[in-house]
Amino acid sequence: MSNPHKAAVIGWPLTHTLSPVIHSHWMATHGVDGVYEKMPVAPDDLGSAINKMKMEGYVGFNITVPHKEMIIPHLDKVAPLARLMGAVNTVKIDENGVITGFNTDGIGLVANLQKSVASWPKDKPALVLGAGGAARAAALGLLNEDLPFVMISNRTREKAETVAAEVGRGRMVVIDWNSRHEAAASSGLIVNTTVLGMHGNPALDVDLSRAGKDTVVYDIVYQPLITPLLNEAAERGLRTVTGLGMLVYQAAAAFKIWFDIMPEYDDVLKERLEAVFR
Ligand code: NAP
Repeated sequence: MSNPHKAAVIGWPLTHTLSPVIHSHWMATHGVDGVYEKMPVAPDDLGSAINKMKMEGYVGFNITVPHKEMIIPHLDKVAPLARLMGAVNTVKIDENGVITGFNTDGIGLVANLQKSVASWPKDKPALVLGAGGAARAAALGLLNEDLPFVMISNRTREKAETVAAEVGRGRMVVIDWNSRHEAAASSGLIVNTTVLGMHGNPALDVDLSRAGKDTVVYDIVYQPLITPLLNEAAERGLRTVTGLGMLVYQAAAAFKIWFDIMPEYDDVLKERLEAVFR
């Protein structure tokens, strides 16, 4: 009899994570004999934790704050997309012990958008608010869509300029943070990737009053699930997308990397995750 597959999520501190709920559900659904562990790893212990997982035959692990960037020097290989993002959220350890880093956030962000709304106005640019790791994922995902261009606006303008220069392929336009309201009025899709709206943070202030009726407002913050931005968008009759699906679809891409199975966001999983927010 073979040993159960082992996978984990590492982070520090690792207080609340939904990844074990998601992966355990898919392991059960697809008959994968395995366990998915929650593993708090302090920054100084990163190297030894990776070594331990390699020695113990883990298939891989997910990475959350604050290890997404600092893990890169510990890896044997980094997939091109993760290299471009400068961050890794999924690691695979193959049967020869070779450790490869991937980033599935961009895939998850766009998959969630595509599954949640049938379409959004692609004759207008998209607006990405923020310039952190999630904004890079958004930019990379959206640049694959057939859009005129992608606008990026961030409180610290230089960071938006860096994102545009590093991943923009000449199709990203930097908008001053003070001009985000005008940019929102001309966008077919508005994506919040800042921490604004998250529990403990102020709401994102962006004027939706002039947004086109068919504009889609996507908030990748999922704590709370319905942020003040999404509330306002819904009140204005705009279509909205929550961040929970992004979490699920980036996890699905990780599950595929480890087990070569693309799992579904089925009703049982939806119910389990939504129950967490009730
Ligand atoms: P990050 O790299 O730390 O970036 C944070 C961003 O928020 C930066 O652009 C920062 O602007 C901006 N910001 C912070 N405080 C602000 C303020 N007071 N006013 C205006 N802007 C402010 O974080 P991240 O990894 O990109 O994550 C961002 C958010 O996305 C988090 O809420 C995270 O939970 C969420 N997320 C969700 C998923 C999902 O699966 N749904 C996945 C990844 C991330 P400055 O550059 O000016 O500081």
